[in-house]
Amino acid sequence: MLLLVDTGSHVKTLHIFGATGSIGSSTLAVVTKNKNLFSLETVTANSNAEKLAQIAIEYKAKHAVIADEKQFDVLKKALSGTNITYAAGRAAIKEAASRPADMMMAAITGIAGLPSVYEYLKQGKRLLLANKESMVTAGDLMKRRARESGAEIIPVDSEHNGVFQCFEEQNRDKVSRIILTASGGPFYETPANELQNVTVEQALKHPNWSMGAKISVDSATMMNKALEVIEAAYLFDLPPAQVDVLVHRQSIIHALVEYNDGSLLAHMGMPDMQTAIAHAMAYPARLNEGGKRIDITALAKLTLVPPDTLRFPSVKLAYHALGQGSEACIALNAANEAAVGAFLQKTLSFQAITRTVEKTLEKADNHAICSPDEVLDYHHHYEKKAQEIWKSF
Ligand code: NDP
Repeated sequence: MLLLVDTGSHVKTLHIFGATGSIGSSTLAVVTKNKNLFSLETVTANSNAEKLAQIAIEYKAKHAVIADEKQFDVLKKALSGTNITYAAGRAAIKEAASRPADMMMAAITGIAGLPSVYEYLKQGKRLLLANKESMVTAGDLMKRRARESGAEIIPVDSEHNGVFQCFEEQNRDKVSRIILTASGGPFYETPANELQNVTVEQALKHPNWSMGAKISVDSATMMNKALEVIEAAYLFDLPPAQVDVLVHRQSIIHALVEYNDGSLLAHMGMPDMQTAIAHAMAYPARLNEGGKRIDITALAKLTLVPPDTLRFPSVKLAYHALGQGSEACIALNAANEAAVGAFLQKTLSFQAITRTVEKTLEKADNHAICSPDEVLDYHHHYEKKAQEIWKSF
């Protein structure tokens, strides 16, 4: 097996798409701790040009791209006097993904991450996949492109990274199931009648993880786990019946893999994304420094229970979408992105998010989808459907 990080004899080049976000920051922290092993090629952001320029300068990136064209002048000014090249616009983000690099951290939020992820896979290198929405909406297309180019897709989502670490490929036919754990989010103990009045500020306060706004809301509705069930089924080529979810409030066990012989392998770690990121960047080697370590003797109690799908029906919707096909998975994701956006803008209630997804899913068809452009077309179609649906509530 190829040893990618071999004590620093060859510095690996890295793109970070979504460098200004939560995963972007954790990735930069891992780079800082392992400076002699990684060097930055391209960093991107949506609109935070000042922060993007700061990162590019501090980490000596070669290229910086901002998606929002209105921020081009800010980026240009902030990078003047450096030899960092820069560009703006969605096309420039996609174009940057074709610049050579040994690895790309895919950490843009939502479907917006798909074009660059798909473009980068052409290089036949290593994709560090945090952007779950691309796998949810274009899993088959991404895997086909990776097979054709020889690219590796290493999951960064902590649960999938945990499964990846416990999954014995040579014993694939002896895996009885994988289990993704869910923290349950900030409202898992909130009585059903109080969910009605949940505010954006409360939804953004995750009990264990510090994350971007969209995924924090997804965790609160447990739609994050729904997306992860779909992501896992594609990533590990498993039928939905072999992907389970258990609620584990402590977020110490991230995933389990159960084998026919009765062995149950668990991946544990602190709720710190640097652990999964460090693993994915170094695999199959290990870095000397990554995330925080567990004090195993200080763990009082670890609990694992089936999810309450009555109050949090999102996970059930994932199995429904997987059973129906890729168009339904796109519909689920599109409705969720639109509804979460509206909730964050305070124009939709918390409980209406899941209801919108459920109703949009009822309208999903099952056409064959052959390209990322078609994925995006269907995404926009189902976003509009979702808006029509919540207006009728
Ligand atoms: P953040 O919101 O913190 O960061 C998102 C990043 O993407 C920012 O750099 C943002 O730029 C950029 N971005 C947002 N929208 C666009 C767009 N339309 N075009 C180009 N760039 C864009 O998100 P997270 O880091 O929390 O999450 C990123 C991805 O990783 C998501 O898919 C999430 O589900 C996944 N993930 C996150 C985890 C976490 O712990 N945070 C854990 C597991 C998976 P700007 O700053 O300018 O807005």
